[in-house]
Amino acid sequence: MPIPGLIDPVPVPRPAFESEDGRVDLVGLPREQIRDALVEAGLDLKQAKLRAKQIWHQIYNRGATDFDVMSDIAKPQRAWLGARFKVGRPDIVVQQVSTDGTRKWLLKTDDGHDFEMVFIPDADRGTLCVSSQVGCTLNCRFCHTGTMRLVRNLRPNEIVGQVMLARDALGEWPSQPEGRMLSNIVMMGMGEPLYNFDNVRDALKIVMDGDGLGLSRRRITLSTSGVVPMMAKAGEEIGVNLAVSLHAVTKDVRDEIVPLNRKYGIEELLQACADYPGANNARRITFEYVMLKDKNDSDEDARELVRLIRKYKLPAKVNLIPFNPWPGALYECSSGERVQRFSDIVYEGGISAPIRRPRGRDIMAACGQLKSAAEKKSRAELDRIAEEKQAALA
Ligand code: SAH
Ligand code: SF4
Repeated sequence: MPIPGLIDPVPVPRPAFESEDGRVDLVGLPREQIRDALVEAGLDLKQAKLRAKQIWHQIYNRGATDFDVMSDIAKPQRAWLGARFKVGRPDIVVQQVSTDGTRKWLLKTDDGHDFEMVFIPDADRGTLCVSSQVGCTLNCRFCHTGTMRLVRNLRPNEIVGQVMLARDALGEWPSQPEGRMLSNIVMMGMGEPLYNFDNVRDALKIVMDGDGLGLSRRRITLSTSGVVPMMAKAGEEIGVNLAVSLHAVTKDVRDEIVPLNRKYGIEELLQACADYPGANNARRITFEYVMLKDKNDSDEDARELVRLIRKYKLPAKVNLIPFNPWPGALYECSSGERVQRFSDIVYEGGISAPIRRPRGRDIMAACGQLKSAAEKKSRAELDRIAEEKQAALA
């Protein structure tokens, strides 16, 4: 659906997976496109179908990055494949490990753009926080990524590539059905996933494929700042858990801190949540709520949050996120007592409202802190970008 202004979904030429040496990257292509690429390179249809199936299994189940190790394919054909195709990964620029075990990777696309991914280990699970864009068209006032311009959408191979790299780093090949360290995925890295819909959908389909990475859609969560017209489509075509960055319960405050609210207001957004396919008590919608001192954290705000969730009869839980600071940020985090009080009120209203423990703050890996180092800008420049983005919403 076309949305006027700077916040339009940004089209990228697809498919555009040919690397500099002319070889086509097979990562991120649906099975049929792998088959078609093999036919185009000269295989007959029957053989192409069989090889596509084998290659798929090798790439996504075994983690192969080289045709030479694909022992179920005849040797001469492995060389033939290697001359025409590749199994790519984003380049790793830097890896950092937090004192709490959180890991952050600064990655680079083939055409030289930096983006980040974060792995958050817990006792009973491990969550990979995946980026969907380099930068973001939106400009939530508390978010570091929002101070970047949108550089470009990430392509399916770059999105799936993050999961593949994490599996490499954790030594989790071949795909195990049980006991994985990388057990969950959240589309909560850099960017707004619903403004890169097709690529995010294609990538997540691959991540969910049973003969590959095999992550259940119940273990994947897509977070949106509230791109209302894309939400039903996301439920129908991707079907993963939904998280919504609500962050405020009045028009004034949400207009200020999540400027997309000027386009799609709170009531419209909550109606889209009520209509989200597949949401029920067993699969609740998560509302993310960043705790900003004296901005959105009063008792009244908490009560209004309960009222709104009840009004729309939403199967919901609320995640309270202590604000993570970054250089130049205009807000402060609410006090510990305030966050606790807010949580208590929401709980008393019958809605679960856990307080998220910040992870990886020491390496700037926590929610909303991601931003490519190369993109550092002055306060004046940040304000100018903010104004530009907001003008596009007016
Ligand atoms: N663009 C998507 C997903 C990425 S952000 C979205 O906005 O939902 C992931 C979550 O981190 C969002 O809820 C976002 O609002 C929140 N966030 C952003 N900046 C933050 C900060 N500085 N402190 C805490 N949470 C932040
Ligand atoms: Fe973009 Fe999400 Fe950050 Fe808002 S919170 S600027 S939508 S990445």
